[in-house]
Amino acid sequence: MNQDCLFCKIVSKTVQSKILFEDENLIAIEDINPQAPVHLLMIPKVHRESAMDLLESDQALLGSLFLRLRDLAQEKGVGKSGFRVVLNTGKEGGQTVDHIHFHLLGGRGLGWPPG
Ligand code: AMP
Ligand code: ZN
Repeated sequence: MNQDCLFCKIVSKTVQSKILFEDENLIAIEDINPQAPVHLLMIPKVHRESAMDLLESDQALLGSLFLRLRDLAQEKGVGKSGFRVVLNTGKEGGQTVDHIHFHLLGGRGLGWPPG
């Protein structure tokens, strides 16, 4: 837990959010500023600042994270239509919250490449 971190506060429920899924290692919430009809954030509970701070010992966590993203895509009705998983990393990667999180976006055509 990092006292100054928004997503650590969401994990500890000090800050309220709309929780879609939770287990001992992960929490999935609705994004507060959705960019698509489906826009959720999958957040590892452990504080890692970004992809660059992942550890070898995080492998099982990441594997389970992608399986739960698959389940949520299915539940949200975009499993067949398609969706995008995004991991913004660092300043030029567009990361604004320094606690690693994966966006799941879907429910409209997303286009490629991103702007
Ligand atoms: P990123 O730019 O990849 O760091 O993404 C941060 C995301 O967190 C943005 O899509 C924000 O809309 C979202 N966000 C910021 N504050 C909250 C919050 N309190 N609850 C839910 N989502 C949030
Ligand atoms: Zn944190």
